[in-house]
Amino acid sequence: MFDLIVIGGGSGGVAAARRAASYNAKVLLVEKSALGGTCVNLGCVPKKLFVYASSLRKEFESSKNYGWDIEINNFDWHRLIENKNAEIKRLNNIYKNLLSDSSVQLVSGKAEFQNNNSIVVDGREYKGKKILIATGSKYRKMDIPGSEHVIYSDDVFYLNNLPKKIVIIGGGYIAVEFASIFNALGVDTTLLLRGRRILKEFDHKTVDFLQMQMQQKGIKFLFENKVKAVELKSDKKIVELVDGKKLEADLVLSAIGRVPNSNDLGLEKVGVKLGNENEIIVDSDLKTSVDNIYAVGDVTGKSSLTPVAVRDARAFADKNFNDRHYPISYDKIATTIFTQPNFASVGITEEEALEKSLEVDIFTASFRPMKNGFGGIDERAFIKIIVSKKNDIVEGLHIVSQDAGEIIQGFAAAIQANITKTQLDDTMAIHPTLAEEIVTMYKKTYNI
Ligand SMILES: Cc1cc2nc3c(=O)[nH]c(=O)nc-3n(C[C@H](O)[C@H](O)[C@H](O)COP(=O)(O)OP(=O)(O)OC[C@H]3O[C@@H](n4cnc5c(N)ncnc54)[C@H](O)[C@@H]3O)c2cc1C
Repeated sequence: MFDLIVIGGGSGGVAAARRAASYNAKVLLVEKSALGGTCVNLGCVPKKLFVYASSLRKEFESSKNYGWDIEINNFDWHRLIENKNAEIKRLNNIYKNLLSDSSVQLVSGKAEFQNNNSIVVDGREYKGKKILIATGSKYRKMDIPGSEHVIYSDDVFYLNNLPKKIVIIGGGYIAVEFASIFNALGVDTTLLLRGRRILKEFDHKTVDFLQMQMQQKGIKFLFENKVKAVELKSDKKIVELVDGKKLEADLVLSAIGRVPNSNDLGLEKVGVKLGNENEIIVDSDLKTSVDNIYAVGDVTGKSSLTPVAVRDARAFADKNFNDRHYPISYDKIATTIFTQPNFASVGITEEEALEKSLEVDIFTASFRPMKNGFGGIDERAFIKIIVSKKNDIVEGLHIVSQDAGEIIQGFAAAIQANITKTQLDDTMAIHPTLAEEIVTMYKKTYNI
């Protein structure tokens, strides 16, 4: 009998298994595919490598004014994919070694519940006192005529060729990130979405600024439209929209959301309760409706981010195998969308402030960073700080700029610790940097 069985060897599962084993628990981890899960194999890591590859174009373009002459018309997609695959293989091995070094037993295969203390993998039964479900999520499939001609984010990482023209369906972070990647690699890119805005849960003015930058780079946006059908005509895809318009593309990528991996685990046999979106419902201790069964990560329908899955996983192991209980705050989670330029955000948006009737001062700055200005790149940056009028606490920071993801991480720690605007202003700037703007915005732009 294992002390803990973990189903899923992704961000959450591996973190929980290793942490529990570090307290001498006897742990089994079951993974049906590649170790590292979505983040390592089909998410954050390969995506970020594509972001790096595509953002080099801007560096090459701006290099001329800095004195360099570089020929940029020979991008090799196959080389990128091959190198990416090798890197992921390397990471898979690192994960395998980390697990064996931590004395976690690993079984490859698909796990299914037999009862609340046992699972079956390839016909073999394994028993555990506690079972943690960390099975993640998968892309939502399109349900339209011709959907077999549509690809999903998983497929992008293994495309044989770079398309000349792509239509991307969706307005969430995966859709806009891929739009930026393909656009910067020279692909004619159209983003098509049902709603009126991309990234609808983020600060509207900051999103509008990002959209403007993306449009300037040649990305086309089609709002408030839906795909009726996709048809194959010779080797082209014809995307038929509900308003009768037709778009032609080499590739149609759907990124219309993610669904929790909860449906083929045999959960009905043990009575684990699911929510409306098939997410596993957990309490503040990450416990499901069944006493000894827990869940972490994307499968719980919380913020689908690797650091959230990892934090929950470690808290679960700390509490259950080391008797260390601490609350996890899901407030002010910093996130970055790796568009070009980046979109980074922490804390409340202006819309949330309005909704909660919070009185806030708003500070904004828009400028062309020195590096772009000198390099002849027409890409601007935008910074917005939202400050509570009541206590001067910085409630939100939203940035559109190159490397905004790197910039916001440090500020996120300060904002999590309730830094005030006065303390921000008292911080000595680092000059010349883009981020110095954040500590030198003395004059409020407006208030609500
Ligand atoms: C394109 C894309 C880009 C992303 N970019 C970012 C980013 O930049 N930053 C960020 O923080 N997050 C990003 N994410 C989200 C991030 O990948 C997830 O939030 C994270 O991987 C969730 O971890 P998890 O442990 O819940 O699930 P996963 O990492 O998905 O792991 C679940 C594992 O469970 C396995 N599994 C499922 N069912 C079974 C079964 N029955 N038996 C055995 N094994 C099973 C799966 O094979 C998988 O390996 C991205 C996601 C995508 C799709």
